[in-house]
Amino acid sequence: MSEVRVRFAPSPTGKLHIGGARTAIYNWAFARAQKGSFILRIEDTDPERSTAENVELILRAMRWLGLDWDEGPEVGGQAGPYFQTERADTYADALELLKANGAVYPCFCTPDEIAAKREAANKEGTPVERTCRHLDPQEAQARIDAGEPHVWRLKVPQDRGEILVHDAVHGDTVFDSGLQDDLIVVRSDGSATYNFAVVVDDANMQITHVIRGDDHLPNTPRQILLYEALDYPTPVFAHIPMICGPDGKKLSKRHGAASVEEYRDEGYLADALFNYLALLGWAPDGETTIFDRTFMTEHFSLDHISKNPASLDPDKLDWINNRYIQQMGASRFVDELVPYLVEAGYTDAQADVDARRDWYEAIYPLVCERVKLMRDTVPMIAYLLDEDIDYDEKSVKKILQKEGAGARTHLHAEGEILKKVEWNEEAIEAALRGYVEQTGVKARFVLQPLRVAVTGSQVSPPLFGSIALLKRSTVLQRVETAEEMAVD
Ligand code: GLU
Repeated sequence: MSEVRVRFAPSPTGKLHIGGARTAIYNWAFARAQKGSFILRIEDTDPERSTAENVELILRAMRWLGLDWDEGPEVGGQAGPYFQTERADTYADALELLKANGAVYPCFCTPDEIAAKREAANKEGTPVERTCRHLDPQEAQARIDAGEPHVWRLKVPQDRGEILVHDAVHGDTVFDSGLQDDLIVVRSDGSATYNFAVVVDDANMQITHVIRGDDHLPNTPRQILLYEALDYPTPVFAHIPMICGPDGKKLSKRHGAASVEEYRDEGYLADALFNYLALLGWAPDGETTIFDRTFMTEHFSLDHISKNPASLDPDKLDWINNRYIQQMGASRFVDELVPYLVEAGYTDAQADVDARRDWYEAIYPLVCERVKLMRDTVPMIAYLLDEDIDYDEKSVKKILQKEGAGARTHLHAEGEILKKVEWNEEAIEAALRGYVEQTGVKARFVLQPLRVAVTGSQVSPPLFGSIALLKRSTVLQRVETAEEMAVD
């Protein structure tokens, strides 16, 4: 069998959105699973909306997700160029081939004339009348030579019958060729239309499998007609079901559907987002949810892609992200945290963090189970990073100022213990637990005031580890401040 060649063909009219990223992941995984090639082609034919900056963002987002391509921008390859705007010669050659095959004809109708014909056809329930298809070739040539504006249309064979699309995901779908327009392949300005460029490129780049969103399914019969007109072999198609929002409607901005970059900035890890997107429409089996790229390349196949739309589930993504945070270890955690520390103004460089690496790494076990997004870490540990902290009003009222709970007495006693104790987590815990025992009161009542004093809130990462990470003088100062607010 010939080598598998697949492509991801984004139009650089915006950033890489998650739908596109999922298509890229499936193509990449299929290429790797089949030991084939993954090609990146930039479909930049819309001059108003395509920008070099968007290309840059798409490439960066793909690299961040861990998707490497074998041919394409920055990598090169034998089937280049990989930007459609640089492939005009290829389309011109393909048009010549179509002309030689007698598969196209020039159409001189103006858009107004076409619109009128279409209206008439709709009224009568007949196919659109194609005057130019029946023009005498010599007359047509004379009008071309005279410089009359014209497009080139595909002469859809009238006896073609049903067009069968074999789809690796959806099975066989039948389209009626009688309903297919004589589609334009080359516009009056000489540019190739979308369907024409895609087919010529896919054929030229020897793409064996076209894996793309099923919003492209209606294009497929037209593209099959083009393959046939050009005498090119038709690739295997696999149309992936769309992604829906949690409400079951097609994914849109309204659902907060964002670009890969926005997810990254929110604090999602590349490994977690990759894993989550891979699961939107594909599953290796009924059970495995957490897997890495290698696992996916070992298990990915088209027949495990679901036919049904996949729903975006933000809670699942958060859960997966947290699983990765729990697995990543302290060192990677600190590396991932640095940009958020910089953004919040706590440091301006990695070197600064590295100088206190042990201290930062010690934060990891305190927070790894509770952080969903990396971005949430900074506010969660603000009491460790800031000298002065804000006290949560509700916690102060409920814990420090609860009549009859003895908060003030407990804080005072704990302050005395903390003045003398050896400054490490075990010693601090042992000493404070000793005090709890002495009081004969439930630990919750004795230690909650200290938690509010040290962290500013009744809800926080583990108390003893937090105390050990702070300077003794800072802790004593906070206990004193809390004592002043507290009542017995
Ligand atoms: N450029 C098209 C898009 O971004 C993809 C075309 C294709 O995959 O056939 O939707």
